[in-house]
Amino acid sequence: MSLLIQGGELITASSRSRADIYCEGETITRIAAHITPPPDCEVLPARGCLVFPGFVDPHVHVYLPTPSTTAKDTHESAGKAALLGGTTCYIEFVIPARTEEPRDALETWRAAAAGRSPADYSFHMAITRYDASVAEQLEHIVSSEGITSFKVHLAYKDYLEVSDSELYHILGLARRLGAITIAHCENAAAVELLRRQLVSAGRRAPRWHYYSRPPEVEEEGTRHFLFFAALQQAPAYIAHLSSRAALAAAMQAVGKGQRVWIETLIQFLLLDKSYAELPDFEGAKYVMSPPLREKEDRSALWSALAAGNISTVGTDHAPFDFHGQKDLGRDDFTRIPNGLPGIEERVKLLYTHGVLGGRIDLHRFVDAASTRPARIFGLFPRKGTIQVGADADLVVWNPDWQGTISAATHHMNVDYSPYEGWKITGRAEYVTVRGRLMVEKGRFVGPVDHGRFIGRNPSG
Ligand code: MN
Ligand code: MN
Repeated sequence: MSLLIQGGELITASSRSRADIYCEGETITRIAAHITPPPDCEVLPARGCLVFPGFVDPHVHVYLPTPSTTAKDTHESAGKAALLGGTTCYIEFVIPARTEEPRDALETWRAAAAGRSPADYSFHMAITRYDASVAEQLEHIVSSEGITSFKVHLAYKDYLEVSDSELYHILGLARRLGAITIAHCENAAAVELLRRQLVSAGRRAPRWHYYSRPPEVEEEGTRHFLFFAALQQAPAYIAHLSSRAALAAAMQAVGKGQRVWIETLIQFLLLDKSYAELPDFEGAKYVMSPPLREKEDRSALWSALAAGNISTVGTDHAPFDFHGQKDLGRDDFTRIPNGLPGIEERVKLLYTHGVLGGRIDLHRFVDAASTRPARIFGLFPRKGTIQVGADADLVVWNPDWQGTISAATHHMNVDYSPYEGWKITGRAEYVTVRGRLMVEKGRFVGPVDHGRFIGRNPSG
């Protein structure tokens, strides 16, 4: 089976050119100014469109059990939504309970995904306990399973949190194995103390969530993580950075020559804490950790993104219904399931507000949402760019299309949108995953089991 994408303008992280792309099987095999299609070739007209490499979401939760409830998406719904939004590959977190063996958790997450996602996917391995047996399993997971990134939580006391000595050992192991360590940087003890104080003072509405995790808590978490990463000379990836304070802490480590990459989320660029202050419990839709920050934080994040100091934009996709899930915390914000849905909207929002908003150019857009995540997490050059030999994961982007975001029309399995009524310009007209047409004229047309687990190289 062959496929020709004809007449589009190809945009990568570093180049722009008008060319045709010819794909045989799962791979891009030719790029040239004019390619004549052979008789049996499927032709996608891309004149007037931009052609991007398939977008990669570095931070996604699909199967996500929490102490009180489980996130709503399946790989089928999340994968479909991802593809309709131009994301052809996402990296999900395997999160073992502290008493669980990593290899068992990996099997659970694998079973939830295998044969069920229309998009390609990979896994980050969260570590919630460190001992000799865990170390041995992780060695195998990195060398034989193609999972080359770890995740640690400095937050979530007595649940996901790792101790300082565990953190130290995990970073050392990661460096030895060529893995990269991702961290959720918030001080667990401080969060716990602040939460208790607020709740016992009767401050229980969603808006108080912010004050249980102020920027200082994230700043300390960031310094703390990077201090241990420096001791071990291990590469470090800051997940979901939200504040000026944490940004300054991370940039200080970069200035000292530490290998640090920073991720922010689309919601931190576009939303601020006023959303979490909406009346009638509406604010619960916007409760996540770290919390949405001030307007000044948003503009600092945009500048850092434009400058390349922030490498990637992810979603931390974590869909919980407003009715029946978020409202578990109606009388106590500490019981609100944390997270926002976003896997379907990330690229459209970043294009509309970033590129058309004049904050980043097309190349930085592709870099932050595709190339950089692929490079950092060892998917490149198979994913993350348009070149001969790469997977034929391509997005033909209609830059003139206009629409409105709504829970009534989105494909994520969740009953609200944080961006309800927002106007969008541009959409994925055609999307291919390894040469297979998955989205046509903005509609899902692919088989739901097309997605594959993608094993990764040691991180670059
Ligand atoms: Mn997190
Ligand atoms: Mn997360």
